[in-house]
Amino acid sequence: MLRFAFLLCVVLLAAPAALAQPADPVVLVVHGGAGTISRANVTPETEAALRAALDTALRAGHAALEEGRPALDAVVASIEVLEDDPHFNAGRGGVFAADGSVRHDASIMDGSTGLAGASAGTMHVRHPIQLARAVMEHSPHVLLTAEGAEEFAMQQGLELAPNTFFHTERRRRSLDAVQQREREQSGDLGSEPADWQMHGTVGAVALDQSGHLAAGTSTGGMTNKRWGRVGDSPIIGAGTYADDATCGVSATGHGEYFIRLGIARDIAARAAYLGESCVDASEVVIHETLTNAGGTGGVIVLDAQGRVAMPFNTEGMYRGHITRSGAVTIAFYGDE
Ligand code: ASP
Repeated sequence: MLRFAFLLCVVLLAAPAALAQPADPVVLVVHGGAGTISRANVTPETEAALRAALDTALRAGHAALEEGRPALDAVVASIEVLEDDPHFNAGRGGVFAADGSVRHDASIMDGSTGLAGASAGTMHVRHPIQLARAVMEHSPHVLLTAEGAEEFAMQQGLELAPNTFFHTERRRRSLDAVQQREREQSGDLGSEPADWQMHGTVGAVALDQSGHLAAGTSTGGMTNKRWGRVGDSPIIGAGTYADDATCGVSATGHGEYFIRLGIARDIAARAAYLGESCVDASEVVIHETLTNAGGTGGVIVLDAQGRVAMPFNTEGMYRGHITRSGAVTIAFYGDE
């Protein structure tokens, strides 16, 4: 009888943990940026194209995971799709800097080893996420910038492209509009950029069959950026973080806030030090820490149990995830 009571206790105590383990865990989550994304300003055609792109990105990463490849491969496979799609502010379709060039930032982190790689301000690397991975795997460094990063990309045999390859008419019009507004405000260089000046960054977090996490982020940064401005996307701990013991994180939003607050690492640190779930930690960090500081944006978060969170404090965030069995969920707006 005593033994039965003891067993019952064990079963009851173990139950919440067992319930927390999803039956069909999420193995990959992607984002395509956060910002003023509402039904009023996304046409049905654009919405269909964006959904198709996120779906393709999720399936590309999922295929890598299904083959038993590491989470890093899935992150790179997903992000490459989004870098090639001119709808997103990454790779082709990256926003213009003030001088009329497109300059990319990217980073990646391996949750199983704690290694990371990143590049900032490159102008000719077709897939900046590949460069970030090469920095991690083939250099003794974490972050390379501008010409040096491009020299390294060349040595690594990565695909290069003329800067015009990344140019799109839509982003050119955005630059013109921002510069026109700046002239009207008599060049007030201290003013904060508007929300719409910086969405479309892409990111992915994956969980592989060995239980390892990886996260990556890729962006053109902020429209009209100058003075070699670098945002949070290539900064490990700000725009990207991964640790098997806690979670993988990729961020999008007003980079200066994400850097100052160390948003991605803060989520993992809350999970590590306070014992919060990554889901709860990300809600606190976005809806309290970031919001109270006046920053805007969001994150995608995945833990090693396949639990996902995608909090944001903007109107919307392009986001989606896929489960181990291949079930895809895609959402854009705040009410989805
Ligand atoms: N976080 C990026 C940056 O500040 C922009 C974005 O997420 O859209 O460069």
